[in-house]
Amino acid sequence: MRICRRCLYPENHALNIIFDNEGICSGCRVHEEKDKIDWNERALRLKRVLDIYRNRSGRNYDCIIPVSGAKDSYFIVHVIKNIYNMNPLLVTYNKQYNTSVGIRNLANLRIKFNCDIMNLTVNPHHVKKITRSTLRRFGSIYWHCIAGQTVYPVQMAVKLKIPLIIFGAHQGLDQVGMFSHFDEVEMTRKYRKEHDLMGFEAEDLINDFDEISIENVQPYIYPDNLEIERIGIRGIYLNNYLRWDSRTQHEQMIKKYGYETSRQNRTFDHYNDIDCWNYSDLHDYIKLIKFGYSKVIDHASRDIRLNLMTRDQGIQMAKKYFKRPPENINLFLEWLGITENSFYYLIDQHRNKDIWFRNENWEWELKPNKSWAGNLLLDNSTSSETVKFKEFILTEKKNSLDPQNKYILIGKGLI
Ligand SMILES: [Zn+2]
Repeated sequence: MRICRRCLYPENHALNIIFDNEGICSGCRVHEEKDKIDWNERALRLKRVLDIYRNRSGRNYDCIIPVSGAKDSYFIVHVIKNIYNMNPLLVTYNKQYNTSVGIRNLANLRIKFNCDIMNLTVNPHHVKKITRSTLRRFGSIYWHCIAGQTVYPVQMAVKLKIPLIIFGAHQGLDQVGMFSHFDEVEMTRKYRKEHDLMGFEAEDLINDFDEISIENVQPYIYPDNLEIERIGIRGIYLNNYLRWDSRTQHEQMIKKYGYETSRQNRTFDHYNDIDCWNYSDLHDYIKLIKFGYSKVIDHASRDIRLNLMTRDQGIQMAKKYFKRPPENINLFLEWLGITENSFYYLIDQHRNKDIWFRNENWEWELKPNKSWAGNLLLDNSTSSETVKFKEFILTEKKNSLDPQNKYILIGKGLI
């Protein structure tokens, strides 16, 4: 198993990664561009793009920003509304796995930024039906979240004739260097299908076995290309225009707007994805089963590149977190209405047998040296502590009427 000599990414990264002859991955090479680019020039370029779309009649919004109760949402709205003085429409797809901190963050976002917000809550019975199917077919409990998050902004752009959608970081660029900053990559239907949705669009989910019909998947259907072209819709990524540093950005948002943070079971990052019970927990555990690495590797690789931790510290972090069993699995089982045995039966169909084997007690164990996580089992090193790792900030829990320990479909947020 080849692993980048600078960050911690393995060669079997789900988004594809390549190594150069020095053993450095494409993600690290693209990251180097961040220190070469003239960001002042890029900021002017962003202003020029935004000026094209500024609605001077006052009869419509200037742009759409997809938001959630976590992950860069505050920062994107802060930049677009409070720095560039745009009038955005915020849109949010309800993942239905909402934590109380996510509900509060979204409520606080509405209050602090004075923006209009539209929310799509898909019929929970349909969401569960779809999730049963994606769990069985692709070993994914997150297809509906990704599909909803990526399609709802485009649907609203078409319906309301707002041609500009603004996202934060492009994952393919930021993680694995699939694109360079110089490509100025924008949103495409193709990337969404191939990488976000694992090759399956909404229509591909229709099948008799799971009793999924066109009505069930209708909220996830991507608008027609002709409509998209007629309105001239484009989706841009802010990390092409600003030097992206997710950790520092979140810390600014904590101070400036009271963004709330939370401890997570399987990673040291207290900022990203804390609005969801599953993303950094059960969904991440599934990633380990399928690929032999997990979210903590993403977070450590990101922070190594940003000089926020050493590679050695990243390895210690990975060792600390990657094996932890999912804390919130019972909430998911209860929500979906299946037993733990059925869940693992379905997931085991997608388990990567090249990296896992059954031991003498018939339990699954990682094969040493066959995956990133397998390599970690053999690693006896300890951190040299040359650089003191700065812990992520944990904010005080705010008051809320929402229950603390279950999925919140619709929540009040702050009191
Ligand atoms: Zn790398």
